[in-house]
Amino acid sequence: MRNTIASRVAVAVTALTLLTPPGWAQAESTPDTGTLLALPAEATAHANQLQARLDIEAIDPSDYVCSSSTPIRDWLAASKADWTAVDHNLANLAQQVVLLDTVLFPDDAGTGFGAFTTPVTHAFRDLGRFWDIDSSRIRLLPLRSTMLTDRTKLTRIFTVGWGFPEAISKSLADQMATLMDTDKFDHGRHPGFTFNAFAIGGLEIPGFGTVPPEIVMGDGVLAGMRAVGLGDVAPQAILAHEYGHHVQYQRDLFNSDLTGPEASRRTELMADAFAGYYLTHARGATMQWKRVQQFVEVFAQLGDCSFAGDSHHGTPNQRLHAAEWGYGLANDAQKQGHVLPTLTFASLFDRQLPTLVAPDA
Ligand SMILES: [Zn+2]
Repeated sequence: MRNTIASRVAVAVTALTLLTPPGWAQAESTPDTGTLLALPAEATAHANQLQARLDIEAIDPSDYVCSSSTPIRDWLAASKADWTAVDHNLANLAQQVVLLDTVLFPDDAGTGFGAFTTPVTHAFRDLGRFWDIDSSRIRLLPLRSTMLTDRTKLTRIFTVGWGFPEAISKSLADQMATLMDTDKFDHGRHPGFTFNAFAIGGLEIPGFGTVPPEIVMGDGVLAGMRAVGLGDVAPQAILAHEYGHHVQYQRDLFNSDLTGPEASRRTELMADAFAGYYLTHARGATMQWKRVQQFVEVFAQLGDCSFAGDSHHGTPNQRLHAAEWGYGLANDAQKQGHVLPTLTFASLFDRQLPTLVAPDA
């Protein structure tokens, strides 16, 4: 979802060891990798380092304990009602498998978004015309979990992502595909595996290749939004927020005097403001503010529970204020029939930020 200076520094430190297979792979005796739930710590660290290097921050409510009950959170919880603790652990691994496979092998990710293909692809095209950045550099990808029953792809990702030798990867792939191909995991298509959307700035990984700038939209989060009655606004709105991060990448807007949670709150609220502006502008998605507001409330409730510490997104109220500020600006701009340049928009936002985050109790 975002990018911080702190995470970039941390990433630089770990990058040197990235893609060096864990030492045990060359050891005389291979440790027991008989079960997916007892992967060697070195392999898990390898995959986690790789993920950190990609600088992904995802919307993933299942990673966090959250007490608030909202329609979409309840929907997700209900879909996992028959899962055991072991199932949850397996699902966490499955999520990481899907995410790394999609990002590292974008050519295999496909281009369709199921029932949402038209609104998503149209919104992506429209965003490209709306904001003054180079949209041709950004790849739009679906996050789909069908690869969880594909032994060839599973073998590949266990080898690249976890650093396992081919034979072990094959064995793990076989276990994974068998476990996933069951009713409780919807035969690999459970929405919990793809309850996610994120932006990646793009990077070179030594020894691997290029990961292009991407926006990744999960089947699961789109299905959830549809289930709670927001299917007409969520695809465009999530995309507009992620596109806002690409404005920030291309316009170098991640840097500010702020650090830690305040820095990420600034860039997240700015992405919400970019979205609010595009979604309601007459030359953008021309949505009713009331509808956008309903979406932001749901999105913000997810974010409030999902993001803590360095990736804090702002409170639901702050996120609503940011989107509403963008909406107000769109109203002003469309009277004059134009779209603000991204850098002008960002400097207006920075001026407004202290007001947006002022205590509201
Ligand atoms: Zn974000």
